[in-house]
Amino acid sequence: MAKNLPVLIAGGGIGGLAAALVLAQDGYPVTVLEQASAFGEIGAGIQLGPNIFRMFDYLGLTEVINRVAFFPDGLALNDVRTGEKVVRVPLGDVARATYGFPYGVIYRADLHQAFLDACRKQPHVTLRTDARVESFQQCADSVTVALAGGDTLEGRALIGADGMWSGIREAVVNDGKPRVSGHIAYRAVLKRDDVPTHLWSNDVVLWGGEKTHLVHYPLRRGELFNLVAVFHSNKYDEGWNSFGDTAELTERFAGACPPVKELLSKIETWKMWVLCDREPVQNWTDRRVTLVGDAAHPMLQYLAQGAGQAIEDAVVLREALRFCRGDMAKAFQKYQKARYLRTGRVQLTARFYGDIYHASGVQRELRNQMFQSGTESAGFAGLKWMYDGIEPSKLFQ
Ligand SMILES: Cc1cc2nc3c(=O)[nH]c(=O)nc-3n(C[C@H](O)[C@H](O)[C@H](O)COP(=O)(O)OP(=O)(O)OC[C@H]3O[C@@H](n4cnc5c(N)ncnc54)[C@H](O)[C@@H]3O)c2cc1C
Repeated sequence: MAKNLPVLIAGGGIGGLAAALVLAQDGYPVTVLEQASAFGEIGAGIQLGPNIFRMFDYLGLTEVINRVAFFPDGLALNDVRTGEKVVRVPLGDVARATYGFPYGVIYRADLHQAFLDACRKQPHVTLRTDARVESFQQCADSVTVALAGGDTLEGRALIGADGMWSGIREAVVNDGKPRVSGHIAYRAVLKRDDVPTHLWSNDVVLWGGEKTHLVHYPLRRGELFNLVAVFHSNKYDEGWNSFGDTAELTERFAGACPPVKELLSKIETWKMWVLCDREPVQNWTDRRVTLVGDAAHPMLQYLAQGAGQAIEDAVVLREALRFCRGDMAKAFQKYQKARYLRTGRVQLTARFYGDIYHASGVQRELRNQMFQSGTESAGFAGLKWMYDGIEPSKLFQ
């Protein structure tokens, strides 16, 4: 009987929809339960490393993503105070030749929409909004979920894709609240015409300095321009997506070079995120319940991999289910075993890169020396393990 029940997925963000898609593609009925009144994503940019394009290829999404993505010419690190170039790594054909796949950037809403459209085409996916998962209980061969408002639903398994503040994680891992990093991100998107020509760049440019950085890159085939300003602050509230305080931003970037100040001045309203992560864990599964994406391994954004790792999770989950011939509990164990070291490495390395971007004094000098030594791409050679990605067909043999 349990075999006819749907797999329940709590959360319809990028992680939840990616999991729904892979399961439905293999014929599993899936119900996605999203607490919001509509499926959607915030308007901001997202970087997608070659490891994620490898996953798009595997999922059959390359064409649709390519239609809306932007493919930057390079990744540049400049000093936020002096404006000096520290390093520039060419992307484009170089990324394709090195990793087999491109490095792209995309409007988050477009990425989310690509997964939503793909899910809607699957006859086995049911998408429910206004469906907040409050709690769950499991027995030998099923899981029962209680929704806010009183509804209950039975599934053959439950996947918690409910993000950084996951309630499913609380029940499964029980490791308290996420770690507040003290770093704040302000995000905004400009139209191309609102960016002065001398400030436009086809690169992903990061202006790094003491406890601050600004990243910008074009979006949506170059029609938009994404800005993310990050700084250390002790002023924050829990949560995310509230409005930023322009006065604090101006104060934090007071010592920045003129192009950075000019770019910041183009934005009237910023959206603010309090950046959090967690210590990596080995176990985020309890029998028929597992986690994907930020619920499983929330990370700081310094390697631009959170959504990408959620997409990799979904692909590995599918491979594990194929290998275990649909035995959910067994497959969830295999999936987590195949994931926790890679995602843990991304979580920890992201913290380290945050320190590198925000370096000052001796640390800054060493950083510049390291990035400027050797070949042009030496600074990012240390991330080859990440960008090479995973080969799904070789995971379980
Ligand atoms: C400033 C910043 C920049 C970033 N840049 C990048 C980048 O360049 N590249 C990259 O790959 N990643 C980036 N990330 C990380 C990325 O945004 C996240 O890792 C990714 O969105 C995680 O997706 P998710 O589906 O796991 O979680 P979420 O996107 O948080 O989705 C969770 C969903 O679950 C729903 N939900 C929550 N609780 C419940 C419940 N109880 N019941 C039902 N539904 C529920 C929520 O409403 C939401 O829709 C960045 C993050 C930040 C903050």
